[in-house]
Amino acid sequence: MFNTVSLVKCNNYNQEQVDIAVKKSIELLGGIDKFVKKGQTVALKVNLVTRANPEKCVTTHPAVVEAVVKLVEAVGANCVIIDSPGGPYNSAYLSGIYKASMMTDVANNTNAKLNDDYNISEHEFPQGKVGKHITVLSTLDKVDVIFNLCKLKSHGFTGFTNAVKNMFGAIPGLEKVEMHGKFTTLDVFSHFLYDILDLFNDKIKLHISDAVIGMEGAGPSHGTPKQIGAIIAGQNPATVDVVGCKIMDINPMEMPTIQVGVERGYLQEDLSFEILGESVDDFVVKGYKVPKPNNFKPFTNIVPQFLQPTVHKLMTQRPVIPKRNCKGCSKCFNHCPMKAIEMKDKKDGKKFAKIDYRKCIRCYCCQELCPFGVVKIKSGVIYKILHKHKDKKLNKN
Ligand code: SF4
Ligand code: SF4
Repeated sequence: MFNTVSLVKCNNYNQEQVDIAVKKSIELLGGIDKFVKKGQTVALKVNLVTRANPEKCVTTHPAVVEAVVKLVEAVGANCVIIDSPGGPYNSAYLSGIYKASMMTDVANNTNAKLNDDYNISEHEFPQGKVGKHITVLSTLDKVDVIFNLCKLKSHGFTGFTNAVKNMFGAIPGLEKVEMHGKFTTLDVFSHFLYDILDLFNDKIKLHISDAVIGMEGAGPSHGTPKQIGAIIAGQNPATVDVVGCKIMDINPMEMPTIQVGVERGYLQEDLSFEILGESVDDFVVKGYKVPKPNNFKPFTNIVPQFLQPTVHKLMTQRPVIPKRNCKGCSKCFNHCPMKAIEMKDKKDGKKFAKIDYRKCIRCYCCQELCPFGVVKIKSGVIYKILHKHKDKKLNKN
């Protein structure tokens, strides 16, 4: 049953429909009683990547969160809604995000609490493949159970985000910047994601994906909402992600987080597992716009140093900040893990952000965090030819 995924139709965010679909998706996996007991506290690890209203389809929809809360509370257990988006992990920063994403409404409509414990805890984790020392949100240590309530979206760095990537939010905001700086290539970063999952292995009981309306293009924060009509649930995050990839009509094995899932034993090599409920074929969205995952590797071994910046530019995708659109808010500057962004002066005295591509590791944190959607993805000429790729597809908001 660990590898079984449930797939249930849910065409819109009408609360009644979502309640029915979420309940059915969990019943197919054995029912809520299997995952939580009376008196326990469940952390609902939602995706609150940035301050955005539910219509933008950036965050886990409040109707999905509320449906899960009702089921948990019916068992006699308690919920705490939690995430740490990029940025400071404190009350001032999170309160605006809770409000915009309507998690505040979920808390008002139910007995769920919004996490207000901003302590962090350190874990020595020698068995981690790359994350030997992991700092996490303390609340996740204190609760009995974790449910991972992710959202299916395109993602500039990892190609897509769903269950596996969502647990990166277990790392406190500013620490995440450090982790991006430490695990610069996508395969190593993917191993870190599985280290987080392994760390919480005994506690994470369910992964439920809000794939009612997903996101394509410039995800995870500035893409376009895309109708899908599904709730995907399972106990194994990698299998939930494989279903997400199939729905987005992409080959799961082209995604580094899936490749590493196979390497780590979360998935069989042939990606086989049982799917209960509807057929994946009924949900496949043809032409779903997903960026190529960015497994950026400096060509230091084969290209002379003086040529490296040019080769990188031609062969990779890179974030671009158009000077005239930049509002000079410094958010990208403050959060770039490689200190690759400088704030410069415009002629009118206002500021703009400029990227030093010699330092940039293409993590796309700047694109994810820019509140104005200013950061675009641009592909080098050779990259475009090799991937038959048009930037227009990814930058359309
Ligand atoms: S400039 Fe942007 S993509 Fe490059 S390292 Fe900094 S945050 Fe990451
Ligand atoms: S976050 Fe966006 S608007 Fe703010 S400085 Fe960076 S690119 Fe400019």
